[in-house]
Amino acid sequence: MGREPLKGGGPRHLLLSFARWFDSWAGAEEIVTVAEKRLDGFRVVPFLALHLACLGILAVGWSPVAVWTAAVLYLVRMFAVTGIYHRYFCHNAYRLSRPVQFLFAVLGSTAVQRGPLWWAGHHRHHHTHSDTEEDIHSPRRQGFWWSHVGWILSTRNFRTRLDLVGDFARFPELRFLDRFDILVPVLLAAGLYGTGEYLAVRAPRLGTDGPQMLAWGFFLSTTVLFHATSTINSLDHMIGSQRFQTGDDSRNNAALAVLTLGEGWHNNHHRYAVSARQGFYWWEVDVTYGILRALALVGIVRDLEPVPEAILAEGRRIDAAKGHR
Ligand SMILES: [Zn+2]
Ligand SMILES: [Zn+2]
Repeated sequence: MGREPLKGGGPRHLLLSFARWFDSWAGAEEIVTVAEKRLDGFRVVPFLALHLACLGILAVGWSPVAVWTAAVLYLVRMFAVTGIYHRYFCHNAYRLSRPVQFLFAVLGSTAVQRGPLWWAGHHRHHHTHSDTEEDIHSPRRQGFWWSHVGWILSTRNFRTRLDLVGDFARFPELRFLDRFDILVPVLLAAGLYGTGEYLAVRAPRLGTDGPQMLAWGFFLSTTVLFHATSTINSLDHMIGSQRFQTGDDSRNNAALAVLTLGEGWHNNHHRYAVSARQGFYWWEVDVTYGILRALALVGIVRDLEPVPEAILAEGRRIDAAKGHR
């Protein structure tokens, strides 16, 4: 078996890069040998194409139904990223039955941010090594652009860290979703196109069609969703206030909390990561936590992990001391 292809970028490397468009675990065991900051240009073509495809909105025009679809898909999928990928799969902040766990993982996959195991493994690594040399996305160590997007495009970070997500990797249905992480996004895109074409025939007064729904509902919505999510790794380790001395650069940032449905209370989160709640006090609006509470009321999610009273009191003491200075 040739084990050298990744160093020189030979034909086997090219083939593996292409295979990973469809099978994200292809040749994964070889990736660990790659230099930290090496970018896989061929593999990231779909990511760049997604951005370019946003220009399609100029060609297809707009309609209220297409714009609303883009907005609703942004909100639903932002919840899927924060409420499901982050708080559930990374931090076990609540419990689910196995069928709902699978459905939630499918919903998370619609965000086009790779599979649940990939997402969770890298994020757990971030919490263990926040803003140290080991951190895979630290603006202090590697600069804004690397922490925002570069780390995702690097070959090294492409593999799923199965070693860090053993608790979920034991479920074959989650391993399937993670390995073929392109499947759910393709189905979503096809569904949007089909819906647009159906509406063009059945409800022509709505003024939409397949290409328009695809451009707004998939390409634009997904790209904006990606960059909004990424601000937590980049800007939320740069701009905002630090209530807790967590030893890293995590910040609380109200604007980012609005943009990401509650993730902007990132300094709180680094203080106590396993809580289902990231806005610790009533004035720290955390929409995702509100949705999780509603889902708990109807029995879909269970055992939301609270913030311990001692940590809430610690935060209140710090705020009071700042107020009296
Ligand atoms: Zn962080
Ligand atoms: Zn986290």
